[in-house]
Amino acid sequence: MAFAQLQLAAPLARAVAEMGYESMTPIQAQAIPVVLQGRDVMGAAQTGTGKTAAFSLPLLQRMLKHESSSTSPARHPVRALVLLPTRELADQVAQAIKDYAKYTLLRSAVVFGGIDMKPQTIELKKGVEILVATPGRLLDHIEAKNAVLNQVEYVVLDEADRMLDIGFLPDLQRILSFLPKQRTTLLFSATFSPEIKRLASSYLQNPATIEVGGSNGTASTVEQHFYSVGDDDKRHALHQILKARAIKQAFVFVNSKLGCARLARSLEREGLNTTALHGDKSQDERLKALEAFKSGEVNLLVCTDVAARGLDIKDVPAVFNFDIPFNAEDYIHRIGRTGRAGALGLALSFVSRSDARLVADIEKLLKTKIELEAVEFDEDTPDIRRQGRINDGRRMYSQPVPDDSHHGSHHPGAIRDVAREGQFARPVPSQRRDYSRPAAAARDPFFDKPYEAPAAPEAAPAWDATVSRHGAGRSISANIKSKRRVAALFKSE
Ligand code: AMP
Repeated sequence: MAFAQLQLAAPLARAVAEMGYESMTPIQAQAIPVVLQGRDVMGAAQTGTGKTAAFSLPLLQRMLKHESSSTSPARHPVRALVLLPTRELADQVAQAIKDYAKYTLLRSAVVFGGIDMKPQTIELKKGVEILVATPGRLLDHIEAKNAVLNQVEYVVLDEADRMLDIGFLPDLQRILSFLPKQRTTLLFSATFSPEIKRLASSYLQNPATIEVGGSNGTASTVEQHFYSVGDDDKRHALHQILKARAIKQAFVFVNSKLGCARLARSLEREGLNTTALHGDKSQDERLKALEAFKSGEVNLLVCTDVAARGLDIKDVPAVFNFDIPFNAEDYIHRIGRTGRAGALGLALSFVSRSDARLVADIEKLLKTKIELEAVEFDEDTPDIRRQGRINDGRRMYSQPVPDDSHHGSHHPGAIRDVAREGQFARPVPSQRRDYSRPAAAARDPFFDKPYEAPAAPEAAPAWDATVSRHGAGRSISANIKSKRRVAALFKSE
């Protein structure tokens, strides 16, 4: 369905046209008309489906009647509140709203933790109609009487499942208690857990339920494969699949900060242009890593969940789950980095024997049976196993390990050891306030502008040399065969 059919007000239609949007994404086609009617919405949609425009455009359209050219703060009370779990998401959504509202007189602002409250306070005091916020910082502003919410007409709880995961429920309840009862509430969540349903039943009135591709589903434009790979073979498998599928750029997700740094180092030494993105990196390092990926200077971005959450990077051709995430919902978030807004994506997950429970959790969440596939290695793919143990960059190119000693017993539990060191990237509720990472800069320029896949990467990826023999594109390589079902594999243990 085309945007033209919506009869958006001229300033909004102009902004949408400038963004280059022509047809609506499925969530937009379903949600926009419903929100325009003023109904509450419970939407199952993840980042990357176009959900920001799905709630912002109709909300802005309904608020146009409040436009005012007056400079008096009293003429610009907060009328719409958008709550998000992280600073990056808040910043990203606020920027999108600014873009959509640029030809209107409606004002918007964003507040999140980790930075000085003063500049935010000054902006709030001037008056804004649309306030985008993370819950903790918003409460600080409410307590300081910088934000008055008694005229709020619209509330958006975006990425609600994430907010509950982080432990924001009490903060949300407090914030909602400050709002007028008469209002429109929109709740978006990648998944509809019982907790989310409880939240919805407490705060939404007769909501329209909108599901894109089924609740708890993953974007239908993502082709997903699960490979049965021993821990020691994962890097070798990564090389093989990159080559066989002619993948130009990819995110590689790991579960720990330590594993992230080590893997990036190892892959770099193995000749792959790689950079790492994890929570211990400074803001400056993070930006550099993202820019390098964005420009095509590096082909692989090895990252943890926290570092990569919510990045609006369009068209990442592939996402690898080098480690299966500890939380099944993170699987959905990770693969949401590929196949965004209609682009075709590829999600490739490495499953080792110890991952049985985690894979079962993903099956339960996706409500699908996961088929495990085997990776067959070409003779000319470098056999990483001979060059050192998994995730241990220090051993690379050192003494070759004898052929029969690299499985299991020689270096048992490399990944689990990392886990025991408490390096998990996943935040626990008690760390909630730390979650919006402290950062030096008030703005994160990377999030101001969506990434576009580099038109022509500077150099062909290292693994491309032999690609032609296997055929280009995303067709399944003849070398990758479907093997056993997950259940069968795990029963045999
Ligand atoms: P979101 O899910 O809101 O984070 O949006 C993901 C990306 O899709 C953003 O970069 C949007 O600019 C883009 N987008 C949203 N709606 C459309 C559309 N109708 N056509 C093309 N791109 C869109």
